[in-house]
Amino acid sequence: MIQNDLHPDTLAVRAGTRRTAFQEHSEAMFLTSSFVFNSAAEAAARFSGAEAGPIYARFTNPGVSMFEERLARLEGAERCVAFASGMAAILATVMGLMKAGEHVVASRSIFGSTVQLFQNILGRFGVETTFVSPTDPAEWRAAVKRNTRLFFVESPSNPLTEVSDIRALAGIAHEHGIWLAVDNCFCTPILQKPLELGADIVIHSATKYLDGQGRVLGGAVLGARDLMEGVYTFLRTAGPTLSAFNAWVLLKGLETLPLRMRAHSANALELAEWLQGQPGVRRVLYPGLASHPQHALAMSQQASGGGIVAFELDGGREAAWRVIDATRVMSITANLGDTRTTITHPATTTHSRLTPEQREVAGIGDGLIRIAAGLEDVADLRADLARGLAV
Ligand SMILES: *Cc1c(COP(=O)(O)O)cnc(C)c1O
Repeated sequence: MIQNDLHPDTLAVRAGTRRTAFQEHSEAMFLTSSFVFNSAAEAAARFSGAEAGPIYARFTNPGVSMFEERLARLEGAERCVAFASGMAAILATVMGLMKAGEHVVASRSIFGSTVQLFQNILGRFGVETTFVSPTDPAEWRAAVKRNTRLFFVESPSNPLTEVSDIRALAGIAHEHGIWLAVDNCFCTPILQKPLELGADIVIHSATKYLDGQGRVLGGAVLGARDLMEGVYTFLRTAGPTLSAFNAWVLLKGLETLPLRMRAHSANALELAEWLQGQPGVRRVLYPGLASHPQHALAMSQQASGGGIVAFELDGGREAAWRVIDATRVMSITANLGDTRTTITHPATTTHSRLTPEQREVAGIGDGLIRIAAGLEDVADLRADLARGLAV
């Protein structure tokens, strides 16, 4: 953990900026695949690592480095390694830190492609994963084996907003010499700093809130300098690199991250409170509500409830689709972390690959709707939902 001298709002617009000889105020974009050296000796020094500086854009682009530095300062991490996508970041974490014959304990409530990655792809390469409850640390402890190297969790989870006790999981992990990785995509460092809570690794899909405007894909892995060396070596060798253009967009995205996260959270809280009193709404799941099963825990590790609200309707799939189809402002899409509010029916989209029995166990009913609150006026969002709820 690095203690910052500056506040997050300042870091978001200032940290990591480096200027070229032109002294540009807004960061330059470096659209070049390679970099030239002043001499053979300088080339040798760069390649040996004796001298810092760019070599080749697969692993050293100044724009990518600026994004990495800014995000590292925001998360309080010693080092950040950027990737082409969130999934590439998760893959690189495992490829950089683990080997065949080792074991992962992961929350059952993680991003669908992350489940597929651990189960179907990494399983073929001899990395075995046990899935456990996001909310019961005792299950994590019981799942630990001699060869367990990594705990992997996402909090709050998607779409049910279950909150995992990051401090407790870090405690269990460290008793056994295991690393705890937290996918911090939903909260971002503005609302939650997993390294401060004891985690060893923070992972981001920058595609979501870090960009925040639905434009580009990106990812990042953060942690202690020596731990990130393996992750960086995988990037340098295998090349799932963040593009120069996407890095520039993400650097700009970070500048408004604190403002946006506060606004997303405020809108989500208002919607959640309002939804609780609406006809046909069986339950509302939002960590910022006192009625949330892990409300106290959420408020002890998050600055606010975040931008994602889930709610369940009495009328099952029919009622859920009616609400979704009656919206005129919200976007019907599975994406999240955008200025535009998105509305999703998890059972038939993001979680449709699960069997009905698996969805039942996971608590993803046919009446469940997930909303990722955007930055529109919340009165318009309420009216948008009221239209489908009222009939
Ligand atoms: C979207 C997402 C990912 C994957 O990120 P991509 O950038 O789409 O590869 C991983 N984790 C969470 C929580 C996500 O929402």
